[in-house]
Amino acid sequence: MENNKELRNWLAAMKLSHPLVIAGPCSAETEEQVLKIAHQLKKTDTTVLRAGIWKPRTRPGNFEGVGALGLKWLQKAKQETGLMITTEVANANHVDLALKHDVDILWIGARTTVSPFIVQEIADAVKGTDKIVLVKNPVNPDLALWLGAVERFYAAGITKLGVIHRGFSTYEKTRYRNNPEWQIPIDLQNEFPDLPLILDPSHIAGRRDIIFDLCQTALDLNYDGLMIETHHDPDNAWSDAAQQITPKALEQMTVDLKIRKQEGDAVEFKNKLNTLRTQIDVLDHQLLDSLGKRMKIADDIGLLKKKNNVAILQTKRWNEILGRMILEGEENKLSEEFILRIFKAIHQESINHQKKVIND
Ligand code: PEP
Ligand code: MN
Repeated sequence: MENNKELRNWLAAMKLSHPLVIAGPCSAETEEQVLKIAHQLKKTDTTVLRAGIWKPRTRPGNFEGVGALGLKWLQKAKQETGLMITTEVANANHVDLALKHDVDILWIGARTTVSPFIVQEIADAVKGTDKIVLVKNPVNPDLALWLGAVERFYAAGITKLGVIHRGFSTYEKTRYRNNPEWQIPIDLQNEFPDLPLILDPSHIAGRRDIIFDLCQTALDLNYDGLMIETHHDPDNAWSDAAQQITPKALEQMTVDLKIRKQEGDAVEFKNKLNTLRTQIDVLDHQLLDSLGKRMKIADDIGLLKKKNNVAILQTKRWNEILGRMILEGEENKLSEEFILRIFKAIHQESINHQKKVIND
């Protein structure tokens, strides 16, 4: 995929003054709904109208999409508004139908990207077309699986390729519906700087109120576009109601988001600096998160020691940890002095936590 610049060139040729905006409902519900949303989006910065026609549901019984009928509505919306259209395809038959209805961009859903067999079937079906294909990350945090799917399309001769970051599923409940794991798209960006990267904040957030912040982080990381679920009446949407926003809210968001321009040496320097700084912010956030989790475990150990009447300070165990960390630190190019300082501070905080637990 070394010279895969086609989608980036296409984006540049569109001369957008902002990242690509793909917006539209989670699901196409009725013809009126699709047309209404399309016309409202026409007044915003949106270039591409999205709508799910076939909905992959984790559990059966939820709304599974209107099926091929909805493609006619999308096609009509395209004719009436001039917006490009995109939908999710999950097998060769979907691809055939989407191609027959002039769908401009095909996206591969997170539950499809996990399956190399299905990805290959879809890649074979789009072979020979000049469609744009956007590959969502797989549900599990696996960069190789994500890239593998992109490579299957590339090998099938599809060169207008991009990826969509929609977060990763976790068993534990977090503030996100799908954990962003920013480090994964950052690694992807470093490895394949020419592969356009689009954020889907809606499926990461699962709720409206944090979509803006997610978009701003993505823009600070130099993402190329946003795919945002948008509905004229979000609360009554047939799927993903809690995370959809109105076209009006989307319009306001694109005004409020700080978008960094791409041209000029000084600007380029600032962009790079900003991207690196945001990468550091992501790592700092992970550090604090890990430290917080570590202290919670220290609290549990404190409780256990209290029950069993054991002293807080266990010198032997502490010396073992230090020795191990100094060695691991060396492998990570961290000096012994730094490791000692940092782990003494961590140890002290753990002791403070345990003291509190034991004396409570
Ligand atoms: C969607 O975009 O509506 C969708 C089902 O997304 P994902 O594949 O990311 O879950
Ligand atoms: Mn959805």
